[in-house]
Amino acid sequence: MMEFDGSVLVKCSRDVKLHQTLEDTQRMTLHCQDCHTVLGDSLSVCGDIKCLDSILCLRVTDDVVVSDNKELGHKGEMANCIYSSLKCRGCRSPVGKVIHSSPSRLASIRSIFLLYKSNVSCYILTSSSMVNASMLTFDLRGFTHSMTEVRQQFEAQLDQMSLIKSRLADRSVNSLLSVSRS
Ligand SMILES: [Zn+2]
Repeated sequence: MMEFDGSVLVKCSRDVKLHQTLEDTQRMTLHCQDCHTVLGDSLSVCGDIKCLDSILCLRVTDDVVVSDNKELGHKGEMANCIYSSLKCRGCRSPVGKVIHSSPSRLASIRSIFLLYKSNVSCYILTSSSMVNASMLTFDLRGFTHSMTEVRQQFEAQLDQMSLIKSRLADRSVNSLLSVSRS
């Protein structure tokens, strides 16, 4: 079972300025605020995390560059987290981060792309308007569903790993047998 502590997200999204959900605003694309390169869309958004002022995305476009450097957070919410920065391919400005390893309080957002709300603009398709992501709240209702999807992938990987592990174990047993036989 993958660890999922929803309370972090609920706590983080409680103090909302303008309550506008994804359902109200419908479909949108996410853009770099500086050069308007497309970074993602609402279909891959699975929520937002208030304490990191970020949108949670399961997928982003190829124009989001994941830094090779792994950094260690020292203070605040990011303390003891290992993460990589995300940059816009168009203008190289920082647009977010992805957390590889974290204390359990942030376990539920590991390996999810975090786009900084303050660096992202949203183009809302129904109204053909561009708004700052900081003005919006990203609904968390789809999150449980998305997490189930992620968990299934994870469990499939885990199954494969234990299969490989048991094969390796078999092999070492076999080689032990052949050694003792000779
Ligand atoms: Zn840009």
